Amino acid sequence: MNNDWREWENNKLRQREIEKWITLFNKAYSNHEEWQKVYRDYLKSNLWKDKRRQVLTRANGKCERCKSIILDPDVHHLTYERVGNERLDDLVVLCFPCHRNADADRDDETEERRIDAYYEARLSGFAMRRYGDGWWFDREREDVEIEFIKYLYKLYCKEHDIHFDPYLDPETDLDFIDYWKNVRNGYG
Ligand SMILES: [Zn+2]
Repeated sequence: MNNDWREWENNKLRQREIEKWITLFNKAYSNHEEWQKVYRDYLKSNLWKDKRRQVLTRANGKCERCKSIILDPDVHHLTYERVGNERLDDLVVLCFPCHRNADADRDDETEERRIDAYYEARLSGFAMRRYGDGWWFDREREDVEIEFIKYLYKLYCKEHDIHFDPYLDPETDLDFIDYWKNVRNGYG
């Protein structure tokens, strides 16, 4: 067997392995416990171990943020956006204090993405009911969002026994804005 062939074969296996992990992570996306379980298994995989080794070599025993020397370096995910198929710059070696700060930043970002996903799901559910599955094909998201907000305003009026005026700009009603913010933040 020549080397080119072997390399091609290895690349193919690696690609398949990456796809396997991405599928597992995607399936577990909305289930925190399941996701943690997939993640723990992933940390044991050769795919991860190779990547980890490359990052540790790059860091050369130092925190990549504050440059202090670390005796027991560990690799931190800056984002989980590409987990299973991370780019090397998604990963960084950090000392303990830098790691703690970075975890807090990343968790904020993850929470923000969860909230966005929730809002998008509600918006798209509304749009599908009103315009059908292919709504995004011939409608601008912004226009649909305006309709969505109007729809929420109607719900809000009903819930609060307020007369619904379809010509009123809902954004002039400050109490409604609070209501909408709750929906936006995943509590409505
Ligand atoms: Zn540091």
